[in-house]
Amino acid sequence: MENFASSVGKLTGESTLLYQEIARQVEKKKGIKTINFGIGQPDVVTFSKIRNEAKKALDQGYTAYTPAKGTDELRQRIADFLSEKYGDRIQKEEVIVTPGAKTALFLSFLLYINPGDEVILFDPAFYSYAEVVKLLGGIPVYVNINFDKNKGFYINLEDLSSKISNKTKMIVLNNPHNPTGMVFTPKEIIQIQEIAKEKNIILVSDEIYDYFIYEGEMRSVLQDSSWRDYVLYINGFSKTFTMTGWRLGYVVAKKEIIDKMGILASNIYTCATSFAQKGAVAAFDSFDDVKEMISMFKHRRDVMYEQLSKIKGIKVFKSPGTFYMFPEVSEISNKVGGVKNLSVKIIEEAGVITVPGEVFPLEVGKNFIRLSFAINEDKIIEGVNRMKEVIEKLS
Ligand code: PMP
Repeated sequence: MENFASSVGKLTGESTLLYQEIARQVEKKKGIKTINFGIGQPDVVTFSKIRNEAKKALDQGYTAYTPAKGTDELRQRIADFLSEKYGDRIQKEEVIVTPGAKTALFLSFLLYINPGDEVILFDPAFYSYAEVVKLLGGIPVYVNINFDKNKGFYINLEDLSSKISNKTKMIVLNNPHNPTGMVFTPKEIIQIQEIAKEKNIILVSDEIYDYFIYEGEMRSVLQDSSWRDYVLYINGFSKTFTMTGWRLGYVVAKKEIIDKMGILASNIYTCATSFAQKGAVAAFDSFDDVKEMISMFKHRRDVMYEQLSKIKGIKVFKSPGTFYMFPEVSEISNKVGGVKNLSVKIIEEAGVITVPGEVFPLEVGKNFIRLSFAINEDKIIEGVNRMKEVIEKLS
């Protein structure tokens, strides 16, 4: 029975979860409480307005299938919200609600990628972009994100231009960026959009961390009034409204694209969960809670930065966005044979979970580890201190 389709053969699961598993074993064996910097979700429960609306919907028996593209109510709410935010008249027909942003991305890739098509990704990048591109027979082509201790992470537009060929079908942008925490400058976004338009390339923009901005300016691709010609905008409820387990995301694109996605949706998963969609309508009335969470995260980021800066051999830049810090650790990881070994060592000896950068997914990350600051301040201080002890023993 293991004669799986060849496209699936090389697919790997969420590598970040592997390190959680090692931690569980360490916890059992050594009896120490692990501290988890590996997690990609806020440690806050979904805001109460949202929970209450979903509960109400359940109690009222709102438990049947919804339309494949999502409820009219939620699609309209998303369209109105984005219209107000970006000053465009986005219609509900230009929105599809999906089970998580991951499904939104999957539909986008499925709709466009033919075997042999090249897809431009940044390195590092969210691990599943490359996996799904390859699953569909596409070829990931990487543009490096560079690091400078004082400047942070940045790209060279010439690098991007030089990777474009007549096979390039799509560019996948993630802003703010997981795992580096960088926020692309408005100028960079405009330039990437110009390149995509000029070369007739589809631009998929994953803006799931758009509220996690501490410095700098977030420019959305929807701010270009000609977005309908070439953009698929991806967002979701997981991070901003701390709704990871609800599985709700969405795509905004021109109506013809959304209609095709609706056909895919009805063949693959029918619709997103009905009562979760009811709850999500109230998400847009929860921005006071969002603001409070973001200011707490900003403080945690400052604390983590300060703590990491005390470790010799770590070069860290204070992330302007997301809830990840991505320090350069080559001086330390070289002593133990790479960042994977370093992460395993830190789990085994300090009981602290980090994610080695090379899971994202190629070359650049090999000198970095990712730490999430979506956990409380005491744990951040204790976790980094425990890491420091292990690292200092290496020198
Ligand atoms: N895009 C990025 C960049 C992410 O980091 C994540 C979650 N870690 C997702 C998409 C998936 O989000 P969702 O929970 O909505 O599927």
